[in-house]
Amino acid sequence: MSKIEFDDEEKLREFLRKCWRSDPWWDEEIIEHERAHFDKAKELGYNPRYLVEYIQGTNHEDDGIYQFIQAFVKHSSVSDKDLLAICLAPKDLSKGDIRIAKRLGWKPEENNYVLDGSLK
Ligand SMILES: [Zn+2]
Repeated sequence: MSKIEFDDEEKLREFLRKCWRSDPWWDEEIIEHERAHFDKAKELGYNPRYLVEYIQGTNHEDDGIYQFIQAFVKHSSVSDKDLLAICLAPKDLSKGDIRIAKRLGWKPEENNYVLDGSLK
């Protein structure tokens, strides 16, 4: 398992281009989603970074190497309010975003987010 960090999107993209040179693949939707977290964190005065992580699947159905792209903030004192704002920045929230937001007291039913049925 390896993790690689990047200061900005350009460096992230440069890395992805090198990795996938012969068979370019990465998901623009993922990058857009992570950019929303990244930009919100920056706007709030934090120093966000992108992270690419490779994880080996563990069960026989998923035994490939998986690539994850994430934005994250390396800061010991992110306030709950800021973390919630960063969490809710993308238009389409991931299950992970929703899980963290709920832990921070967010109630989806009080907001206008459209969630898919499986998340209720
Ligand atoms: Zn997210």
